[in-house]
Amino acid sequence: MTLETPVGSVTRIGKRLVREFRHLGIETVTDLLFYFPRRYDDYRSIVSCKELRLGGRSSVKAQLELIAARRSRGRGILVTEAFFRDDGGSVRAVWFGQRYIAKILRPGAWVYLSGKVESSPTGLQFTSPAYELAREGSEPVHTARLVPVYGLTNGLTERQVRYLVRAVLPTARDLRDPLPEELRERLKLVGLPAAVRAIHFPRDEKELFAATRRLKFDELFTLALKTSYARRELESLSAIPIPFAEEETKALVAALPFSLTGAQRRAAWEIVQELGKEHPMNRLLDGDVGSGKTLVAAIAAVNVARARAQTAILAPTTLLARQHFQTFSRWLLPFGIRVGFLAAQEAHLAQDGRAEAYSRRDFLKKLRAGEIDIVIGTHALLGENIRFARLALAVVDEQHRFGVEDRQTLREKGSKGLMPHLLSMTATPIPRTLALTFYGDLDISILNELPPGRMPVLTKLVEPGKRGAVYDFLRKEVGRGRQVFVVCPRIDVADTSGARSVRAEYERLRKEVFPNFKLGMLHGRLKRAERERTMRDFVEGAIQILVATSMIEVGIDIPNATVMMVEGAERFGLAELHQFRGRVGRGSERSYCILFTPTPKALVWGFTETREADALRRLRTFVECSDGFALAEADLRFRGPGEFFGAAQSGFPEFRIATLRDVALMKTAREEARALLTRDPELETAPLLCAKFGKQKNGATPHLE
Ligand code: ADP
Ligand code: MG
Repeated sequence: MTLETPVGSVTRIGKRLVREFRHLGIETVTDLLFYFPRRYDDYRSIVSCKELRLGGRSSVKAQLELIAARRSRGRGILVTEAFFRDDGGSVRAVWFGQRYIAKILRPGAWVYLSGKVESSPTGLQFTSPAYELAREGSEPVHTARLVPVYGLTNGLTERQVRYLVRAVLPTARDLRDPLPEELRERLKLVGLPAAVRAIHFPRDEKELFAATRRLKFDELFTLALKTSYARRELESLSAIPIPFAEEETKALVAALPFSLTGAQRRAAWEIVQELGKEHPMNRLLDGDVGSGKTLVAAIAAVNVARARAQTAILAPTTLLARQHFQTFSRWLLPFGIRVGFLAAQEAHLAQDGRAEAYSRRDFLKKLRAGEIDIVIGTHALLGENIRFARLALAVVDEQHRFGVEDRQTLREKGSKGLMPHLLSMTATPIPRTLALTFYGDLDISILNELPPGRMPVLTKLVEPGKRGAVYDFLRKEVGRGRQVFVVCPRIDVADTSGARSVRAEYERLRKEVFPNFKLGMLHGRLKRAERERTMRDFVEGAIQILVATSMIEVGIDIPNATVMMVEGAERFGLAELHQFRGRVGRGSERSYCILFTPTPKALVWGFTETREADALRRLRTFVECSDGFALAEADLRFRGPGEFFGAAQSGFPEFRIATLRDVALMKTAREEARALLTRDPELETAPLLCAKFGKQKNGATPHLE
């Protein structure tokens, strides 16, 4: 067996299991070795049967006296019942539905049992305990130790994974350690083979801690090297330097019906200054929903246009691109700036005070000739035949909606070896401390201030029992001409969790609750054209109540929408809920965000430490706080970084083992990465590292990977 051996040929594992492993991204022995446990069950305390206590988690080593399988009365479930004895006493164990147990465990065998101890009419018992034959001279794997627990698919059991990991573990000795020895010794990091062995089957906490630290460091160090490397590459590239067009910038700001917020002023200044450099900017503009990022981008674009260069603005949907087109036209036409709009099906050009439709061909010709200063568009902008005369700035709005390749494609449209400056915009608030540690090598401008005069959105938690009153309220709002969002956690009723689904709610609300109103439905399984039509109908007021999944349009401005109602609010992250809330409160009317809480039943059952109780606490924080950055910090505390941003929202790398909370280790990793790259720019002394993260093909610059 080698590190490259496919799992299928390791031992007796069938085709089905191979498929299950593939779902987890595990194909080879190496993959399996790096499939780390999610957590550990502590079954180390081995006691005698006599010492077992109710409610605790314990292990015993006892001899099987009697075992029998029978069908339960009534529902006919297979129940396996067994009695065990050791020196001091005896204990009963039961399992449900696991037919084979009676075949594996034979009377007379010595067995480890680990699990929770409950009471039964015949005394204490283990209910569905982990079990394992106690063999002379071999360590237990599933019981009587710190037992690894893996994240699984439905078709796999913990026992199967543990068994297989155990079987391949000896090959860990062949893992080559990519870290330079000097570094490892100085930071007191254990070797890679030892770390991998201990992460799966640690002897004690100390060993586990050392292994975890080492493996986390690897991930963070890799990331740090990548970003440092990318930054260095970027600094070696040239960009079109954009001088500060002071006069136009001032004129633009003076012409606005409002004045800039302090944060906008600072961010715009940071950006404009950096555009002046001869190396490409790589900056993230991070600002809460409604903080006015568009205007900051517009200021940058004006400066670029004055330098007779072009700006491309990428938006995730046609609707948002069109909205930007209108905004930019309104702001910039008075300065003689030509603003274009390009979507898959249409192209428009606004100049000399009016907008005109263009054929795609003519539009592209003008773009190539430099007769369009700013082009705003969707994915259509990324097409191969889209060329610019002098692209100096690429802006990516709602950057989390695009992949790294999209940003790269756009940047490659610069001319003659000149890389356009890049401005990414996001409304996912990243706590500052986190951003700095994490993206130390990326520049960030933060808009942490909303324009003045915004009425805060009134946020309320509502018990399911008060649903009727909420619907009455919605009827009143819609009756006054307002519009309403209803967000549900899922599209279909696909599980037993009781989460409301868009399809079912749409039908129910339309037929039973609001028969007199016009409702629309929006979710990811509808065709793109249909989604855009629905969204447009909502913008234009033809739809009064929009039932949607979390995919409701990002960035769009609908001042007339005043109510955001969220079903199953506990299922969303605070950052996500905050995005929802940002959809309303954009006009002059008072707006509301209504969250339905988990059912009280879940609470009555008294699991005070359960997810439901945590969820309630989380939601209360949300009700009380309207600052996206503060919420992001809170979310980080409550849910841990893993779930912090929600699945696809982040732009943050997925770690196997490191977390966003490993701030100190992150800092070390970054310093070490910088030092190493300074000492050895081409990573010649660390060939394994070099192979992993060194040379990027064709100078690709990862950004927010
Ligand atoms: P986001 O940061 O979410 O993209 P937008 O750029 O869409 O926010 O701005 C939200 C709204 O606020 C827009 O209608 C915009 O015109 C307005 N706005 C932007 N800056 C200011 C400001 N300084 N004062 C008042 N309103 C502003
Ligand atoms: Mg926006």
